[in-house]
Amino acid sequence: MNASLYIHIPFCISHCDYCDFYSEIAPSTALDRFVAVLQTELEMVFHQYHITSVPTLYMGGGTPSVLGWRRLKTILDHCNRLFPSWPAEVTVEANPESVDDALLSMLKDRGVNRISLGIQSLAEDARRAVHRSGSAAQCRIALAQTARFFPASFSVDLMAGLPFQTQDGLVDDIHEVLAAGASHVSLYSLILEEATPLAAQVHSGRIKIPCEEEAEDLWLAGRNALVHCGFNPYEVSNFALSGHESRHNMRYWRMESWLACGPGASGTIINEREGTALRYTNKANLASYLSWDTADFPPREEETLDQETLIQESLMMGFRTLMGPDEALFQRRFHQSISELIPETLSAWKHRDLIQENRLALTADGLLLLNSFLVDCFRELESSIRPSKMKAADTFD
Ligand code: SF4
Repeated sequence: MNASLYIHIPFCISHCDYCDFYSEIAPSTALDRFVAVLQTELEMVFHQYHITSVPTLYMGGGTPSVLGWRRLKTILDHCNRLFPSWPAEVTVEANPESVDDALLSMLKDRGVNRISLGIQSLAEDARRAVHRSGSAAQCRIALAQTARFFPASFSVDLMAGLPFQTQDGLVDDIHEVLAAGASHVSLYSLILEEATPLAAQVHSGRIKIPCEEEAEDLWLAGRNALVHCGFNPYEVSNFALSGHESRHNMRYWRMESWLACGPGASGTIINEREGTALRYTNKANLASYLSWDTADFPPREEETLDQETLIQESLMMGFRTLMGPDEALFQRRFHQSISELIPETLSAWKHRDLIQENRLALTADGLLLLNSFLVDCFRELESSIRPSKMKAADTFD
C-alpha cells in the first residue's frame, strides 16, 4: 500500500496561550524512551499495512526540534531503514529557539528537504502577549540559518489576529520572511479556543484581541501582500511560489491514505475499492504511550468512515484548494461525479462567478466563502444521499 506518514512529536518548550494541540513540556528524562517507542510503532504500522511506498513524510508537533538533532537523526535513520524508498518530500517542523546549525546540517544530510518554521509573528509585544516562546531576534536568526541550509525550501507559519497586531505590522512580517527566502507561507487566523489560557484572559478582559471584523481585515491584508509578492493562494490558509506547494498537505486535501505515529496522531487508510476508510487516532497521552507493551497497537481509537462520510470529507477537503477536488479520483472511488451530486450548488456558485471557468474549484474570492459553500454542498447532498448519514456542515469548520 502507498501511504504518506505523519509523525507527531508531542513536546514543546512551553505552552502558547492560544494553543489547544496536544503537547507536553519536554520532559528530558522521557525523550529517549519516546524515541524507542516511536521506532517500535513505526515498525508495527509498516508491517501491519504492508507499506510499499511513502510519497511524503511530515514530522510535526508539538515542536519536533526540541528533541534535539541526535534523537531526530535516530528517527530519520530508522525511517530510512524501514521505507522501501525515500519519500519525495520530507518536512520537519521547527521552532526558532530550538534551531541551530547542527540540527539543520543533520536534517539536510539525512534527506529532509523542507523545513516548516513556526514564526507566528516578528512583533515582540504580540509574542509576549500570548507567551510564545523565543524572541523576535531568535526568529530572525533562525530564518537566516534555515535559509542557509534550505535555500527556497522552507515554509513559515504566521498568524493573523494576535493581540497588538496591526495590518502594517503583519505585512512587514510577511515582507521580512519572504526577503529571508521563504518559498511557502501558512497564514492562519487566530482561533480563540475555549479552555485555553488566552480565552480565559480575553473573557476576563485582561487581554484584548482584534474583533472578528478586524481579524478578517488583518488576514486579508496578509493574503493580499502574499499574492502581490507572487505567492499563489493554493489553499485557504496556504501560499506558495510555483512548485513549492506542500505535497504532504496536498495528500490530505485529496484524501489519500496517510499513516500517523506518536501520541495524539491520527491516520486515515482509504479503501479505494469500497470508497470507505479506516481512521485511527492514538490516545493523546504520553504516559500511556511510553508504557505501551507493544503487543498490539498503542492505545488508540478506530472508526470506519462509510462512503457517505468519505464523500463529504472529500468535498470538504478538496474544495479547500484552488485546484479543487480531484474529479477523476472521486469518480473512481465513488462511481459518481461531483457534478452529479451537487449540480444546483455548482450552478448557483458559478452564476456568482465564484467557481472557476475551467475547473471544478472555487475561485480565490470563492475560497473566502468556503464555509458558506460547504453549507450549500452538504444541504444538497442531504437530498441525494441518506439523510441519517449527514452531519451538519459546521461540524467540519
Ligand atoms: S509551540 Fe506550537 S504546539 Fe507548542 S504550544 Fe505553541 S502553538 Fe502549541
